[in-house]
Amino acid sequence: MDYFRSQFSDLLSYQFTPVQEFHHPVLHEAGVRLIIKREDLNHPFISGNKWWKLKYNLEEAHRQKQKTLLTFGGAFSNHVYATAAAAREAGFGSIGIIRGEEVLPLNATLRFAQSCGMKLYFISREAYRKKSEADFIADLGERFGNFYLIPEGGSNALAVKGSAGFTLTLSSLSYDYLYLAAGTGGTIAGIIAGTDAAKQIVGVSALKGNFLQQEVEGLLHVYEKAEGISVNNKNWNILNNYHHGGYAKVTPALLAFIKETKESYNLPLDPIYTGKVLWAILEEAKAGLFRKGSTILMIHTGGLQGTAAYKELLV
Ligand SMILES: *Cc1c(COP(=O)(O)O)cnc(C)c1O
Repeated sequence: MDYFRSQFSDLLSYQFTPVQEFHHPVLHEAGVRLIIKREDLNHPFISGNKWWKLKYNLEEAHRQKQKTLLTFGGAFSNHVYATAAAAREAGFGSIGIIRGEEVLPLNATLRFAQSCGMKLYFISREAYRKKSEADFIADLGERFGNFYLIPEGGSNALAVKGSAGFTLTLSSLSYDYLYLAAGTGGTIAGIIAGTDAAKQIVGVSALKGNFLQQEVEGLLHVYEKAEGISVNNKNWNILNNYHHGGYAKVTPALLAFIKETKESYNLPLDPIYTGKVLWAILEEAKAGLFRKGSTILMIHTGGLQGTAAYKELLV
């Protein structure tokens, strides 16, 4: 039997990952405790939330007897990287439709995707905007034949389901606030669906703008419809003011913060998502926004691969 195909069942289960206690003078001052669920350690290549989001999609593609996964993303996309790795492990072919012009040599993210056998096609930003339209998808079908389509960022009803399932691994933890990064919103939608309303769930948007609330509500509806259930948890909100300039934008202060967090606190963070989350938690603590004596749980959603591609860009 194909080696990677034999790994398929492993890909469908949640892994045990550690919880790291994070001490920091700002938190001490605010009288709160911060624990970090290290989901970045759940898989070497399909890291963090990308695993949860892909797992039921892999199963569904398998059930449909599809041979190829097709998805979309930017040149630094953790989702493209994870999908390429998952396709290889589960024995699918893969196609990545990449936003923007091809830049050679390819960056570390795309080199890795290609090394997993993913075929990359670059399309203009204009064309990319049409990626959810029926005509565009029909054209892809003519060009590539049958495939299992996973939307940008992997966010669909099955991704929400996988993220909801992940919350079972948090059931032994005691906390009052749950913080995580949000991009397309599929992950936080699942966390909302899987968490009891006694906890305040906070998404830190990695993007500029304030459309995420609506995106998350939309994904929750899609999930409710697909599963025939209703999600009544309203105890969540999105913070839109910690994006540091927008998606994949950074500030020197943010990069310095990430460096210090790694060196002094033994916590690796990425500049696109998780670095912005810890930054937000410390800022909110400074502003006295947490109840004294409470515990904050931060989910480390992974994405550390992006740092490598980023460094190439910065040097
Ligand atoms: C993709 C990603 C996110 C965003 O997840 P969404 O479901 O798109 O909101 C958050 N953190 C990391 C590390 C990611 O790679």
